[in-house]
Amino acid sequence: MKEDFYDILGISKGASASEIKKAYRKKAVQYHPDKNPGDAEAEENFKKAAEAYEILSDPDKKARYDQYGHQAFENGGGGGGFGGMNMDDIFSQFGDIFGGGGGFGGFGGGGGGQRRSKGSNLRIRVKLTLEEIANGVEKKVKVKRKVQADGTTYKTCGTCNGSGQVVRITNTILGRMQTAAPCNACGGSGQQIDKKPNGADAQGLIVNEETVSIKIPAGVQDGMQLKVSGKGNEAPGNGFAGDLLVAIEELAHESLQREGDNLHYDLYISFSDAVLGGSKEIDTVSGKVRIKIDEGVQSGKILRLRGKGIPNLNGYGKGDLLVHVNVWTPKTVTKEQKTFFEKMKDDDHFSPSPEKSEKSFFEKVKDMFS
Ligand SMILES: [Zn+2]
Repeated sequence: MKEDFYDILGISKGASASEIKKAYRKKAVQYHPDKNPGDAEAEENFKKAAEAYEILSDPDKKARYDQYGHQAFENGGGGGGFGGMNMDDIFSQFGDIFGGGGGFGGFGGGGGGQRRSKGSNLRIRVKLTLEEIANGVEKKVKVKRKVQADGTTYKTCGTCNGSGQVVRITNTILGRMQTAAPCNACGGSGQQIDKKPNGADAQGLIVNEETVSIKIPAGVQDGMQLKVSGKGNEAPGNGFAGDLLVAIEELAHESLQREGDNLHYDLYISFSDAVLGGSKEIDTVSGKVRIKIDEGVQSGKILRLRGKGIPNLNGYGKGDLLVHVNVWTPKTVTKEQKTFFEKMKDDDHFSPSPEKSEKSFFEKVKDMFS
């Protein structure tokens, strides 16, 4: 489950704009990648703080968050998903926070200077059964990712002398203009490959197959995207790795249908079961369960098993399992049975007499979704 943005920044809900800014500045300094090289947890905290600040520093977004929580920004499907910020977004945010470009030594804020490159993201799909979605699951997947080859060494870029930028002079009608642009030779990193082993590509990377373990929280939905930070392709030199983006695919269940956090199950019972009542075995996401059928149950009756649905992704409890009772009418009968039913045709016990208290199927459905 996603952490509360206020908790991440260590502030209370009533914090003022300047308190929010101050709290973020503190976290950003604490977890900055320059101070914590190679520390994935610090990088994760750094990103979390940036994401929290991104929302809480914007009055509109903050209001939406205060009202709807994380759901306000996670409308399932496609790219939406979890934490849309990458490091570039975060560093471009620093301009406002630390004033001017240079606040963080060499770490390219608004204004140029050296940039740490980011490796490209990798994308995979993970197919999950409804049972796995209901209980949460840890999946181990094989990923082919580019990593820095052993033996690759770097030297200062000769084109920009390590500054990561080059000065261009252009003639305009206003005279000669001097502009700084990222160095093309090194992509702005200030570094170039010195030596690389055989098999490594031009950036000194090789493809390596790795097993990555992905923790999938209970309650995810088809089409959602999870992000495993730092498990994408590595970047050369002092760059940092891209992310592994995991698209969730939900496999159809043979007897349970999902609708949000609720599940539906169609139960077919015989005419005799409907008359006599009894118990029936049904499927749930945690195995088979026997439920009681009252005598005289009507076709269309919906039995609600509270909490037997899917856990809510944002921690708002669990959905229900709705069992729809369908009375099965025999399509053929024996001669003897036919005689029996013909005799019953005029029997008062067999003629429909719905009680006023019994709502129609459509009224019940209306209640359920209102
Ligand atoms: Zn360069």
